[in-house]
Amino acid sequence: MGETDPQFYIDGVRSGNRRILAKTITLIESAHPTHRQLGRSVVDGLLPYASKAARIGITGVPGVGKSTFIESFGMMLVESGHRVAVLAVDPSSTRSGGSVMADKTRMERLAVAPEAFIRPSPSGGTLGGVARMTRETLLVCEAAGFDVVIVETVGVGQSETTVASMVDFFLVLMLAGAGDELQGIKKGVLELADAVAINKADGDNREKAEKARRSYEMALHLLNPATPTWSPPVLTCSALTLAGVDTIWETIKDYRSKMSATGELEEKRRRQALAWMWSRIEDGLKDRFFDHPAVGERLREIEASVERGDLSPTMGAETLLFLLDKDH
Ligand code: GDP
Repeated sequence: MGETDPQFYIDGVRSGNRRILAKTITLIESAHPTHRQLGRSVVDGLLPYASKAARIGITGVPGVGKSTFIESFGMMLVESGHRVAVLAVDPSSTRSGGSVMADKTRMERLAVAPEAFIRPSPSGGTLGGVARMTRETLLVCEAAGFDVVIVETVGVGQSETTVASMVDFFLVLMLAGAGDELQGIKKGVLELADAVAINKADGDNREKAEKARRSYEMALHLLNPATPTWSPPVLTCSALTLAGVDTIWETIKDYRSKMSATGELEEKRRRQALAWMWSRIEDGLKDRFFDHPAVGERLREIEASVERGDLSPTMGAETLLFLLDKDH
């Protein structure tokens, strides 16, 4: 069985072969159409084996302690018998510049633990591209037997929403700020949170962290919880001393058992899968549009007419869309 056969990768991933796991992810991330096609077949073949992991998203501003937290949290899980995969979504990263996230050097112990697997953000350019690759990589890691998959993202742009749409549980890390605790936080991020944790609650910072915890708790109470089954708690932790890190895992387990009991976890995953399909359809339609030769020929001219006001935007759009029906 050769390396052009999807079964080679499917069997390799399922048997826990890390080299083949890495190769499979490379296929998923490839810009080469043949590799991508092969990658898609492999992901499809692995799908039946990919549903058991706890999918956890983690976000927070740079410096909040995401890497330190994931190192501590991941090691705690590994030491209690779990297998942990860490992925990242960072649309700003490039292959040459290197991702600042899920950086192996910042997760020293986890990076060498045989029960863990760390993969930096793909450098797909657009958020949509990066999201596709990360979502498929997440499924592949699950099929490889990782029972906890962490997806890290930095709190910029739309990446939090994207990550929240591929995980079961979304954890927002915060810092106790000076003065107004809620200063600078985006309300949208709190709405995505299944839990908020104030990190660096250690030493002299403990009291401030507790104060911040209460402020965020009040802010969260003002939001309507998405479900009566779960009210997102606000916790404190220290990624450095490990204080409170175990409570976060207990909280995630509690969430999973409550949301599973009511069927809401399954429902969430079903909704995510459908939303994912629709976003792929939108991407696919856009690609088809821009790849179509007749569109390519006339796009600039029609754009210019709309700019000059010779053609209404509606007419311009209809003319271009009509070209799609034309044969190549
Ligand atoms: P990231 O940018 O969110 O990944 O943050 P890092 O994990 O790189 O942490 C930024 C800095 O904060 C580093 O110097 C860490 O050592 C420090 N740090 C992270 N977590 C804690 C914590 O819980 N307590 C304290 N005191 N420092 C922390």
